This record gives sequence, C-alpha cells and structure tokens, in this order.
Amino acid sequence: MIEIADGVFIRRHTELDLTLGYVVGSGDSLLVDSGMDPSLASELCSSGRGPSRIVLTHNHFDHVLATEAFLPCEVWAHEDCVVDESLLESRARYYPEPFEGTLIAPTHTFRDTVTLDVGGRRVDLHHFGPAHSSHDVIVHVPDAGVVFAGDLVEEGAPAQAGSDATPSNWRHVLDRVLELNPRIVVPGHGNPVDAAFVREMVIPAVS
Ligand SMILES: [Zn+2]
Repeated sequence: MIEIADGVFIRRHTELDLTLGYVVGSGDSLLVDSGMDPSLASELCSSGRGPSRIVLTHNHFDHVLATEAFLPCEVWAHEDCVVDESLLESRARYYPEPFEGTLIAPTHTFRDTVTLDVGGRRVDLHHFGPAHSSHDVIVHVPDAGVVFAGDLVEEGAPAQAGSDATPSNWRHVLDRVLELNPRIVVPGHGNPVDAAFVREMVIPAVS
C-alpha cells in the first residue's frame, strides 16, 4: 500500500500493472476495485481493516474477480454494471486455467452520482456517460483532491478501447473528471498522474 494523500492509498500489482485504491475514514474504509489477487483481502481483513464497501469502476475481469475474498461488504457499481460468466471469456484470453472463485454481482447501484460517508469522510461516485465501458464509475475523494478514474486513464501504456467502449464520448467524460479539479488522478493501470496528463491523453480507437 502506498499512501498518495492523507488516508488515501493505492495498491500496485505487477500483474497487468493493475492499480487498486483504498480510502480510509474513521473506523471505516472503502476499496476501489477488488482486482484479481485475494492476498490483499487476507492482509486487510485479518488485521480488521477490511473495507465495508468495494466500488467497482467497471466490470472488466481484472477489476472484479477478487471481490469474494472481501465479503461481507457492500459492492457498489453503476446500475449497468453486470458481473456474470461473460467476463470470464476475456479472462480466458489472458489466463488459460479456469477461474476457481465465485463471481460477486453488485449489491448497491446508482445512475449518475451518489455520495458515500466513509467514516466521516465524503466520497462521491460519478458516472459521466460511456467511455472505456458503458458504465464507468469515477471515485472522487474531495478532501484529498484524488480521483480514481478506472480504465478511463492508463499510465505506462495506452488506454484500451474494447468492443464495449465509446471513444466518441471519452474526451467529454475526461473533461468532466477535470472539472472536479483533481490534484491526483489514479488510473486503473499504472502510476498516479496529474490533471495535465489527463488533458493531454490520447483517446484510443476501438481495437
Ligand atoms: Zn477495463
């Protein structure tokens, strides 16, 4: 865990260069994406620091497969976020061995914006329209100036647009992210970046 702002952490993974987020309030915490590796859950939950909520930025397998390891907790996502067997097809392109766990669907959903209280700390979830997926969630921690952008932003590699992406709306969504005046933007893959990086980012075409 790397602390990037007061009580705001990232967890970097070598695997796919994945970046998860962890926001800590008074006696409560929230995880941004569960990732693929259950070891973070053992670390946090065994020391009583397991999150009461996970927010899924979108339903791509690398962001959601480890949710089961953190239960019991609320699982937040956009209302169009579907977590089912179909996402294992894309996993199979990277990992031939079968997925052994249980897929956990969101328990709490929202459409445009919802504000959560994480131990006295405000955390806003936003959906600014389709871009990397149909249902991207942006997690904003206003008191820290931190935005978790999911795969709307990638550092160290170009952003990816699959068949579920909407590149024509991507710049609009990033502009809405920039309106939040973030000091730090955490990508779904790679190291944290600043607003200038987001402003200059190249929008991918559907691959
Ligand atoms: Zn993705």
